[in-house]
Amino acid sequence: MLRRILGLILLVCLPLLLQAQEKLSVHWEELTGPDFITAINRAQGTCLLPFGILEKHGPHLPIGTDLLDVRYAALHAAEQEYAVVFPEYYFGQIFEARHQPGTIAYSADLQLKLLQETTDEMARNGCKKIIIVNGHGGNEHLLPFFAQSQLAQPHDYVVYVFDERTPQTGGPVKTDNLDMHAGESETSKMLIARPDLVHMDRAGEESGADQHRVNLPDGVYTGIWWYARFPNHYSGNGALATRELGNFQMNWWIEAIAKTIRAVKADQESLRLQNEFYEQAKHPLDTKQ
Ligand SMILES: [Zn+2]
Repeated sequence: MLRRILGLILLVCLPLLLQAQEKLSVHWEELTGPDFITAINRAQGTCLLPFGILEKHGPHLPIGTDLLDVRYAALHAAEQEYAVVFPEYYFGQIFEARHQPGTIAYSADLQLKLLQETTDEMARNGCKKIIIVNGHGGNEHLLPFFAQSQLAQPHDYVVYVFDERTPQTGGPVKTDNLDMHAGESETSKMLIARPDLVHMDRAGEESGADQHRVNLPDGVYTGIWWYARFPNHYSGNGALATRELGNFQMNWWIEAIAKTIRAVKADQESLRLQNEFYEQAKHPLDTKQ
C-alpha cells in the first residue's frame, strides 16, 4: 500500500518538477542567483543582447519601437531555443535623429566602451557566446565594427551579430517600396509586439517620402544622407501596415533568431580560432617561418 502511495506521489510530482525546470525564465533579471547558474548551463553559455534605441518613429509609433520589437522577437526565440536574454539595452548609434524629440544619442566612444564592458561583464558571468540581436538600422556600421574590434585584444568569448529583421521574400504582398523607417513593415511588426502603442490614424500626418535633397554618385558616403532624404525621420508609409504582414514578419524574425541560437550553440570553431589568432598575433613574424 505504502509503495502504491509513494508511486502515486511520484507520478503526480515528477511532471510538476519537470515543469518547474522547464519554466526557468529566459529573462536575465528575473532569475535568482542560483537559478542563473542553471540557466547559463542550460543555454550552453549562449546569451542574447537585444539591441534597441530611443528615437522618433514617424508620427504614429512609440520612441522605443526598435527596443520593444527586438525584445519581443528575442524573448520568443529564446523560449523556443533556450538562451539567457540581457535586460533592456538602447545605447546605440542614432546621431541622425538628434533633431527629433525623445532621441537619446550617446557619444561614439561611450557607445563602444559601454558595449565592450557589457559583453565583458556578460562573459564574466558565463556568457561565452554572445549574440547581439540588432533591432535598429542605425547600428549597421557600429555592430560589425564592434565585432571586428574584438580581435584587437584577447577575449575568452565570441561576439556574434545577428542583423536581420525583415524577410526579403514570401508572405503577404507589400505595397510600400521605401519602407525604411516606421513604414509598412515596422508598423506591422508593432501591431504584433505592442498594438496598444500604434496610432494608425496618425500615420499620414507627416510625409515619409524620399526628398532626394543631395545627389552624389553611388559609393560616396556622407553622414547627412539620411536627413537629406528623410528629414521627418520617417521613411515609407505606416498607414499600409496590417496585422497579417506583422504576423508573417514577426514569426519569420523569431524563427531566424532561434535558428541563429542553434547555430551558435553548435559552433565550436570561432572561439578556437580566436584563441589561435590571439596567440599568433603576439609574435606575427614567427608564424611566417
Ligand atoms: Zn525602427
